[in-house]
Amino acid sequence: MNNYSAIDIIEKIKSRDISAQQATEYYLDRINAYDNQLGAFITVTVDYAKQRAKQIDKQIEAGDDVGLLAGLPIAIKDNICTSFAPTTCASKILANYIPPYDAHIIEKLEQAGAVIIGKTNLDEFAMGASTENSCIKLTRNPWNNERVPGGSSGGSAVAVSADMSPVAIGSDTGGSIRQPACFCGVCGIKPTYGRVSRYGLVAFGSSLDQIGAFSRDVRDIALLLNVIAGYDNRDSTSVPDNFAPKPDLLANLKTDNSAKKLGIPREYLKQDGLDSEIAHAIEQAIKEFEKLGYEFTEISLPHTEYAVACYYIIATAEASSNLARYDGVHYGYRVANPKDYIDVYTSSRAEGFGNEVKRRIMLGTYALSAGYYDAYYLKALKVRTLIKRDFEQAFESVDAIIAPVSPMPAFKIGEKVQDPLQMYLGDIFTIPVNLAGLPAISVPCGFTKDNLPLSFQLIGKHFDEQTILKSAWQYQQITDFHKQRPELS
Ligand code: GLN
Repeated sequence: MNNYSAIDIIEKIKSRDISAQQATEYYLDRINAYDNQLGAFITVTVDYAKQRAKQIDKQIEAGDDVGLLAGLPIAIKDNICTSFAPTTCASKILANYIPPYDAHIIEKLEQAGAVIIGKTNLDEFAMGASTENSCIKLTRNPWNNERVPGGSSGGSAVAVSADMSPVAIGSDTGGSIRQPACFCGVCGIKPTYGRVSRYGLVAFGSSLDQIGAFSRDVRDIALLLNVIAGYDNRDSTSVPDNFAPKPDLLANLKTDNSAKKLGIPREYLKQDGLDSEIAHAIEQAIKEFEKLGYEFTEISLPHTEYAVACYYIIATAEASSNLARYDGVHYGYRVANPKDYIDVYTSSRAEGFGNEVKRRIMLGTYALSAGYYDAYYLKALKVRTLIKRDFEQAFESVDAIIAPVSPMPAFKIGEKVQDPLQMYLGDIFTIPVNLAGLPAISVPCGFTKDNLPLSFQLIGKHFDEQTILKSAWQYQQITDFHKQRPELS
């Protein structure tokens, strides 16, 4: 089983080579065997998954159409609402929260026949880059258990990397899909802002958040996007299909890619602190693309140096507003024996939120307060426009951009958690993409001498997931980094 792609599994289930129940059991067994050590899952929905798989097998037996995903097991980041399992955001404040509804993408996945096998660990409310900010558990990198898996969607990346799930869903506000995918040696896509409905994704930075997917094989990501992308009137930023037509991303992978001009951002590769092994792996990837007939030009994204500062004002400002709803009254944790009603609010929040979340609420509240709004928040919005324009200008001469995902490979557990600024600076290559609302995919392209995975990302034009998927798929056909598996004990 573990050599099968998601598409292989679906075909085998449909042709009744294996049953949906067997596929589900296989991954549940692997979770059982390895997740004590790796800590990818917060909840494993054992009974729910078995029941769903059984139902799908029955439908297949009866000759019913079971949808594009026909019994495919899938893991979901635990900041996406599920009515059948707790949605904790890895926070004490939502520890026992079971939403009364399913997120849009959960509906879409289930309508297509997917079997949800569990909810995965993350940095609390998706704030972080190592999954160390989870209030629930530590997640370890399958390639080296002393290293972080990246974050915030660390659990989903590990689930796929360690073959505890063939595919997984995450969210990316400033890199939270692409960076853990990179640290764990799998593919991860952040679609264009507006492509996938955020209805039922617990909000962090609403103008940046976007749901996306993890897999090994690019084709599996194309299939998942075919299922989860598309207009939803419950998310006011979801883009209508007539404005951004949704191609059949999977079928189109087979057609030749005519978009073969890739840009290399001068500012990215010359970035101080870019690990030399990463720079080297990307140079090698460029050579592979050249073999495929791709052309490269140097481009400039001159406002890159302001991206981290800009993001950490906008994201924290939005977070401070979004997280005001956790008040000890509406949802989740409430302090025992409060002194008065103000204490319900303040103490529930003081006890319910972890340190990183509190830090961001304070930063964001400060940036939005009267007297500082113009100096920080408004200024950051203007810088965001400049960053977006940098990309627009670059895309006048190239079809997509190739860039590093992270300046360093997976770092050691505990190495950066005491120094938030160091942690934030690691987001330099992923954050500009969210600020501009662009799609980007991270693709495995090598290993360090210590056997840690390395990746590049391909950044596309708005709503042009197709080009980056095609290029990534062409690259995967002539390389096998995505096929490497960590050795698990
Ligand atoms: N590392 C970034 C942060 O801490 C990105 C998080 C994310 O994409 N959710 O905000």
